[in-house]
Amino acid sequence: MNENIIARCEAKGLRMTEQRRIVARVIGAAEDHPDVEELYARASAIDPRISIATVYRTVKLFEESGILERLEFGDGRARYEDAERDHHDHLIDMNSGEVIEFVDPDIEALQERIAAKLGYKLIGHRLELYGTPVKKG
Ligand SMILES: [Zn+2]
Repeated sequence: MNENIIARCEAKGLRMTEQRRIVARVIGAAEDHPDVEELYARASAIDPRISIATVYRTVKLFEESGILERLEFGDGRARYEDAERDHHDHLIDMNSGEVIEFVDPDIEALQERIAAKLGYKLIGHRLELYGTPVKKG
């Protein structure tokens, strides 16, 4: 997956410096939705010379190149995930901030039907659910 991101960057003509490779590696290894500060923490664990400004610029470049998808979960912080991760939606736990990924075939089909009814072919969607856990008795 790491090689995958680096290869995709190179295919898009991005010059892959050592520090950009580190950021790409960190993103490729992430299974969550880190913000820039978290990416910086992970990148500087690999190379302490990396600066948060470099991470910020690299993330922006990757986002503009379609390598990364930018997400916002209602707290004003931008988070990122690999744009080529399999499609899924997100449920955000408003108590803990935990982000749960899910795919629901009924929702997928419903969205297709709504788009079709409005005269469109659906090419993508983004769905975020916000909730608090229901206590089980
Ligand atoms: Zn996700």
